[in-house]
This record gives sequence, C-alpha cells and structure tokens, in this order.
Amino acid sequence: MLGAERYYILREAGTERPFTSALLNEHRRGIFSCAGCARPLFSSATKFESGTGWPSFWKTLPGSVSTRADHSLLMERTEVLCERCGGHLGHVFDDGPRPTGLRYCMNGLALNFQTA
Ligand SMILES: [Zn+2]
Repeated sequence: MLGAERYYILREAGTERPFTSALLNEHRRGIFSCAGCARPLFSSATKFESGTGWPSFWKTLPGSVSTRADHSLLMERTEVLCERCGGHLGHVFDDGPRPTGLRYCMNGLALNFQTA
C-alpha cells in the first residue's frame, strides 16, 4: 500500500535524498500527517526553511510522535517516530528556531499534506 520508496523510509528507517521532496515548497496552510497511518503530525504554522533539503518543523502536534536514541552512522541522533504506527519519520535536532529551538528534520515521503 505504501509503495517502495515510502516503505523504505517508514519501515526501514531510510532517508530520502535532500531537495527531492515536493513538500519542501509547500507553503499553504494545512496539516502534515503520517503517510503510514494518517495520524496528523505537524501544522503548517510550525514549518520553516532550514536549508537542509528536508521539510523542517519546530514543533509537533501534541502527542503525535515518539523519539528514541539512534546511534547509527556513528552519530548521536534522536530518531522521530509516528506515535501511532511507529513509522520512521526523521530526526530531531536542537538547532532549530524559537520558540522551541528544535528542528524536526522530516522525510517528505513519510508525510502527506492536506490543506486546511
Ligand atoms: Zn503513522
């Protein structure tokens, strides 16, 4: 149901190539939800231009994700997963903008967008 590319991201913790997501340039008001289970994850109000090539947000919708330590690639990172289906969404870093200082670095393929 997911398609090979989305499956690779969500179920095998893959990472899409930067600057490939159509959601990078999505600036309309709306909600970004999990591509695996449709759980609403992010509001467009918290999306920002990080320059990384991946859709970036400074806050999740309440209770929508869980996190865990990720030691792969010889780096200390914090993995972000969908709270409902456990799908891999991306990682969160502490170099984001105010007010949270967080940068949720998401795979566009892990998300679907719906206008408000
Ligand atoms: Zn999900």
